[in-house]
Amino acid sequence: MARAYADEHGAARLEAVKVAIGELLGASPELVRSGWDFVVRDSIDEGVPIEVELRPVHQICPTCAKVPLRIQQVLPRYCSQCNALLRTSGGNELAVLQIKFEAEGPETPA
Ligand SMILES: [Zn+2]
Repeated sequence: MARAYADEHGAARLEAVKVAIGELLGASPELVRSGWDFVVRDSIDEGVPIEVELRPVHQICPTCAKVPLRIQQVLPRYCSQCNALLRTSGGNELAVLQIKFEAEGPETPA
């Protein structure tokens, strides 16, 4: 996806890429990195580093505002204090945060 973006903008070789992955997607940073290495293999972007930022799930009780404790990655569904259904947000992001290109002449502002 980063490469398509680069082509669109007529840019040169990528220099660095940074992505955000929600923890609910179940992909570890290592998995993303090896996937990236596979994608850019034999292309001009081979060897370009990718930085992966893991985005956690946030949970809060809508009734008593208690933030539940998590035991070993397992997300509780109900508040341990008042038994209300917890509100869950985040954790399913998948976004390209930053794409850096190797500089090729002076930058022209968009
Ligand atoms: Zn509660």
